[in-house]
Amino acid sequence: MPGEIKGLNEECGIFGVFGHPDSAQLTYYGLHALQHRGQEGAGIVTSDGDHMKVSKGHGLISEVFPQDRLDSLEGHSSVGHVRYATSGDRSYENIQPLMFRSQTGGLAVAHNGNLVNAHALKGQLEAQGSILQTTSDTEVVAHLIKRAGHLPMDEAISQGLSMIKGAYAFLMMTENKMYVANDPRGLRPISIGYLGDAWCVSSETCAFDVIGATYERDVMPGELLIIDENGIESKRFSAPIQRTLCSMEYVYFSRPDSDLDGKNVHAARKRMGKSLHAESPAEADVVTGVPDSSISAAIGYAEASGIPYELGLIKNRYVGRTFIQPSQELREQGVKMKLSAVRGIVEGKRVVMVDDSIVRGTTSRRIVKLLKEAGATEVHVRIASPPIKNPCYYGIDTSTSGELIAANNTLEEMREQIGADTISFLSVEGLNDAIYQGQESLNHGGCTACFTGNYPTEIYPNTVLPYEKA
Ligand code: SF4
Repeated sequence: MPGEIKGLNEECGIFGVFGHPDSAQLTYYGLHALQHRGQEGAGIVTSDGDHMKVSKGHGLISEVFPQDRLDSLEGHSSVGHVRYATSGDRSYENIQPLMFRSQTGGLAVAHNGNLVNAHALKGQLEAQGSILQTTSDTEVVAHLIKRAGHLPMDEAISQGLSMIKGAYAFLMMTENKMYVANDPRGLRPISIGYLGDAWCVSSETCAFDVIGATYERDVMPGELLIIDENGIESKRFSAPIQRTLCSMEYVYFSRPDSDLDGKNVHAARKRMGKSLHAESPAEADVVTGVPDSSISAAIGYAEASGIPYELGLIKNRYVGRTFIQPSQELREQGVKMKLSAVRGIVEGKRVVMVDDSIVRGTTSRRIVKLLKEAGATEVHVRIASPPIKNPCYYGIDTSTSGELIAANNTLEEMREQIGADTISFLSVEGLNDAIYQGQESLNHGGCTACFTGNYPTEIYPNTVLPYEKA
């Protein structure tokens, strides 16, 4: 999962509760379950029906919200956000939810994703006199909504959303209503659930389980949900288009106990491991997975091959977040601290090392070295997703193309650089089959643009990648 040891990071997670006296506390627990989606900033906005209060800061949710701070957030409704910040994007102002106040009331906005036409819209807004306070796309949307302020709020939001392009799940709140929207292709996950009479909204369903809520359904592509004291109402701000949910959510980002689009992430990863074995078998004595996100795929590979699954690699859970280390050298030291090979398991053995994906390749090289230093006689690297060759414009920091090992090397060159005896990746077809089990032609089919270069939306000439924002 993000925040582990890869150069691959999610932009954020969002969670909200409408209609519960402990909404802030529940939002805290929900965000805690989504912490893997972003560890550099967290915020919660509450409403008591008349007033809205915002509280946010840098760090983990538990660092930002000690109990006394949480207790000061009163109200029946809350929206919260955890975020991953890219370099040059760590300012306090960019921590979400963003809060906007005007004479007609407040609007809190939490966003997961990335807009591909934000640069052009910012230029238009500034030319028309708007002054933007943050570098975040989220503020652009708030300005667009405000410019339609003569309309009822749901229509103003629909109008604002109709002008933006890219990947987004939005959670917004006024003093007495909550609004949830998913982009016309449903690139980022967002679901609703309920806890008694209260409605809950989450980037991932695992957060519902944590607070004892029941999952209701995913928010559909192009759908705007309006939640208030009368219940929940569904509207459309865009005609339905085939959903292209991010495939990397299944491969790496989401927690294995989450369901995406009705499909459990752990089960999908196991099927990826099985498909990987069918495509790329290896003669070996043990199968091991790189903790934590690759373990499900490794179990699937082991089951399909009949080779025993073993804990050949152990993660030290008490090492800090390595991905914020600034230099390559420090990142590699971080990997060393975070993972250990288990000599008693791998010594004298031919090992299949299953990993979910490869970004720069430095982590894989280090892990192969660890296994060989611990006595593995052969290391066969099996990657449970296709080679990442293209940048993501939809909110995932995949590094620049120049840093992506698969964008610049042949398979044999990668094998050599990583130091493996053999290396194979899952095919795009194998990945789609594992996720959708032949159902993708009905109404789904994931985004696979970082593997194939086939982007499901227009990419504008000035589209700014998440890690290029300053
Ligand atoms: S390009 Fe890759 S990481 Fe980005 S949304 Fe598509 S599948 Fe996900």
